[in-house]
Amino acid sequence: MNTTTPSEEKKSLNFIEQIIEEDLRNGKNQGKVITRFPPEPNGYLHIGHAKSICLNFGLGKKYGGYTNLRFDDTNPEKEDLEYVNSIKEDIRWLGFQWHGEPLYASDYFDQLYQWAEKMIMEGKAYVDSQSAEEISRQRGTVTQPGIESPYRNRTPEENLDLFRRMRNGEFPAGSCVLRAKIDMASPNMLLRDPIMYRIIYSEHHRTGNKWCIYPMYDWAHGQSDYIEGITHSICTLEFDIHRPLYEWFLDQVYEPGRIRPQQIEFARLNLNYTVMSKRKLLELVQNKYVSGWDDPRMPTICGLRRRGYTPESIRKFAEMVGVAKRDNVIDFGLLEYCVREDLNKTAPRVMAVLDPIKVVITNYPEGKVEMVSTENNPEDPNAGMREIPFSRELYIERADFMENPPKKYFRLSPGNEVRLKSAYIIKAEKVVKDSQGNIIEIHCTYDPESRSGSGSEASHRKVKATIHWVSAAHAVDVEVRLYDRLFNDPTPDGHDGVDFKAFLNPNSLEIITHAKMEPNFIGLAPETRVQFQRLGYFVTDRYDSKPGKLVFNRIVTLKDEWAKISNKE
Ligand code: ATP
Ligand code: MG
Repeated sequence: MNTTTPSEEKKSLNFIEQIIEEDLRNGKNQGKVITRFPPEPNGYLHIGHAKSICLNFGLGKKYGGYTNLRFDDTNPEKEDLEYVNSIKEDIRWLGFQWHGEPLYASDYFDQLYQWAEKMIMEGKAYVDSQSAEEISRQRGTVTQPGIESPYRNRTPEENLDLFRRMRNGEFPAGSCVLRAKIDMASPNMLLRDPIMYRIIYSEHHRTGNKWCIYPMYDWAHGQSDYIEGITHSICTLEFDIHRPLYEWFLDQVYEPGRIRPQQIEFARLNLNYTVMSKRKLLELVQNKYVSGWDDPRMPTICGLRRRGYTPESIRKFAEMVGVAKRDNVIDFGLLEYCVREDLNKTAPRVMAVLDPIKVVITNYPEGKVEMVSTENNPEDPNAGMREIPFSRELYIERADFMENPPKKYFRLSPGNEVRLKSAYIIKAEKVVKDSQGNIIEIHCTYDPESRSGSGSEASHRKVKATIHWVSAAHAVDVEVRLYDRLFNDPTPDGHDGVDFKAFLNPNSLEIITHAKMEPNFIGLAPETRVQFQRLGYFVTDRYDSKPGKLVFNRIVTLKDEWAKISNKE
């Protein structure tokens, strides 16, 4: 049953794996491990959900079981088919496959309804004809017991009649609810006669107008786990106080011999420099602070995908974060580290200049073009070499030249030499300026003996800096979107009295319409990841980029710029 490999075995088990292995040793659940991922289709999935997906699907796979995808679609007012479809797409993209068809809590509405009638007949549930405000006023406080509803002692027959009429649409929304009859004095407020059904007149995306009463989360969730034979129902920490109610409801329906699901809580993933509440993400989308749920700055899975993150890097991140019992905040830099590590091994190296300035090599013959050879990826022994054109006029990065450099500036400056990556050593001789004094060209000379790889003495000559370049006549224009973090504060939603949107990073997107790129890659398909040498990792946009007319998104810089900034402070 246990399918861990020797290398995985060396790692110590997390606390959920320990519980599962203990259960397996004890022969619990007929030796099965069945988990589920239960999203509510009321928004797009984010990186926190990715953590839960990796955990649930990972456990199903590791222990030879499986994982259900179950939509928790019990609130027709907020849910939508668009969300259902995006959730399926995101899970598949992350590399996971659910067991059989996707499942829906709404498929169990009939069964749940029958169980509710059974509870009514057993005196375990009653129809309360008070308003929601009244009911919540009577709940009491943590230190004070609640007050029993005047309708609490209706007879089973009366309750059954009223419940059926609720279901038949005889009562207006808000006029009554079905409540479990537990204990209004329980120290756990959730056990003070929790609501099981409320009336909602709203079309459901699957059941249409069949129902006008909808089950509450606590009533629907555990019973859905039970119906599906889930062995380990993993959820986030805030549900630990729901566990007694989860158990109480199961007690009402459990039949000996069947699998009884166990709820286990773990710490939700919190990431700094972002927000993860669906409500806040929706607000960013609706008020157009971002271009959509898949804006490359969003912490949604489709946003991370469009930004260029790989499924591997997100799975690696989830693994490194681990499974904790206490809440903590993970640094966004860890996610960036994971994608850098992944792409360093796989992304082809490309010469591109984002902020071009022209270099003219005055002693290089006019009209001559040489092909120089450069490596595709020094980290990948099988990646090989390619040829790029070199000529008299080139572009280099504006920041790689300074007319009056400070000490320790080793890149190009008057009288100073640098190597052009995979090509020659050049020396800056003079600058040409426009009428406003802006530098428009740098005139250089080159050392004809210094070509990289030629084997000459000068080809080995050491200079202090190597810079990237492209041949001006051969370069292709590409659009580059420089994305940065969406918020410039580590805890945008952690400031009392200040709205999280006050911390939006005004510089989270800069668009460069005419970056210059070597010609070899002009045919790149959408969603192809490369490293622009010395600049970072970039991806051709899923939607806006086409072969021949490329649009790149910056995934991440090569170094952790944010760590540098905070170290300086
Ligand atoms: P809400 O309930 O406010 O709509 P939610 O983020 O809890 O938002 P669900 O669709 O209920 O959304 O989440 C589906 C699953 O993902 C749940 O099992 C939930 O525990 C898990 N999940 C949600 N957010 C995180 C997170 N930040 N870290 C880990 N797991 C999470
Ligand atoms: Mg939830």
